[in-house]
Amino acid sequence: MKIVLYGNPTLRVKSAEVDKVDGELRETLDEMVELMRKANGVGLAANQVDIAKRFFVLEVEGNVKKVINPEILESGEEMAEFEEGCLSIPGVFKKVTRPEKIKVKYLDENGEEKIEELTEMWSRAFQHELDHLDGVLFTDRISVLNKRLVAKKLEVLKKDYNKGKIYREDI
Ligand code: ZN
Repeated sequence: MKIVLYGNPTLRVKSAEVDKVDGELRETLDEMVELMRKANGVGLAANQVDIAKRFFVLEVEGNVKKVINPEILESGEEMAEFEEGCLSIPGVFKKVTRPEKIKVKYLDENGEEKIEELTEMWSRAFQHELDHLDGVLFTDRISVLNKRLVAKKLEVLKKDYNKGKIYREDI
């Protein structure tokens, strides 16, 4: 299992729902948690490891969530601005504005439905990872000025990808 880099078409795909939560999926989720930790990440979505299915893993302060078929049921009106990065877009960090609180629904690794209210890092990471499953990257959500500032870096990443640098080899 490896992390795909910016330029990989899987990062732009709207991923498919999971229809069965089984042992194979649990193994994949465990492997993703391991990889996320190695990469010092807060979240890792399935399409970042080249699997176009709707699941991701999160870790905040040592607590892990394994999230399958996630949905946002409600978003709070209050917005928060916070710097984000992405394991598939190394070297790019910019502020993104998102709802501060969300109410979410998902299946856990045992196929049990969870409904939770998330704030702070959990809310932020959940929204970032859910975007991945819809083919959206945080760089799509930054200001016009910041888009201009990161354009060159993204271009370089895309060129590297086209030259065959498909995976993060440093993790
Ligand atoms: Zn990301």
